[in-house]
Amino acid sequence: MLPNMRRNGFGKHLLYGLGTLVLKPVKLLRGGSQLLGISHFCNISAKDSSLQIELVPCLRDNYAYLLHDINTGTIGAIDPSEAFPIVDVLTRKNQNLTYIMNTHHHYDHTGGNMELKERYGAKVIGSANDKDRIPGIDIALHDGDTWMFAGHLVLVMETPGHTKGHVSFYFPGIGAIFTGDTLFSLSCGKLFEGNANQMLTSLQKISSLPDDTNIYCGHEYTLSNSKFALSVEPKNEQLLEYSAQVAQLRSKNLPTIPTTLKREKQCNPFLRTSGAEIRQSLNIPPAASDAEALAIIRQAKDDF
Ligand SMILES: [Zn+2]
Repeated sequence: MLPNMRRNGFGKHLLYGLGTLVLKPVKLLRGGSQLLGISHFCNISAKDSSLQIELVPCLRDNYAYLLHDINTGTIGAIDPSEAFPIVDVLTRKNQNLTYIMNTHHHYDHTGGNMELKERYGAKVIGSANDKDRIPGIDIALHDGDTWMFAGHLVLVMETPGHTKGHVSFYFPGIGAIFTGDTLFSLSCGKLFEGNANQMLTSLQKISSLPDDTNIYCGHEYTLSNSKFALSVEPKNEQLLEYSAQVAQLRSKNLPTIPTTLKREKQCNPFLRTSGAEIRQSLNIPPAASDAEALAIIRQAKDDF
């Protein structure tokens, strides 16, 4: 256990009482990904937090994130799919990497671990359940564990369904959660290692956070997700409005991330498993449970 890691038992209970701590995050969006085509640099400043979040496009449609505590110079990379884009940003800014945080073991979330670890001596943090599958893992955490990122509280939430050991990292102080491939904007991850019940529980856990929580997910899938969402809930006004915004952003090669929990609750079919229009579109009986509905929606999305 490292000196800056704390483990205690109040994480799960804390989740429900953190609304008052939520501050506005700083978002630094930039990237050089040719494939995603995101070439703009957006800096949304906030005076009340020293933590900046920078979006780094990787591979075809992945997002890694760089967290930077400007007071201490501590930097963490979340889900570095590959080393190069991260090294590129850090080299230009003459910065070092302290931590690597992985939401799950898939290669497009951990592919840069070993090279970055070797280059910077960064500590790799991930789920204890996946300690044998996360390359270079140093700090293995469990559901409800907390640790400190340069003075910022981080809560580890197990969110299985996509993989068995999937975790999300919640930063209550800035109202931000990194959801990897569990919750996307307008969708959820495919059920590779888990079932609909597990995914539902994971999504409900994330949904229990404050509505203004910013959600940073692992892929830029929002535009294609919006097409499926509209196909099952064509009369959802908020979804129509958001889908138009998404199309506009992507036509300018801008990211749609972060999204907010409030918006996802209004528009994401996987958070709306009891929605009447969705159930009607997919012939889900009114008596079906939310998990049964989620399984049917997921299958329909897979076949879409
Ligand atoms: Zn994945």
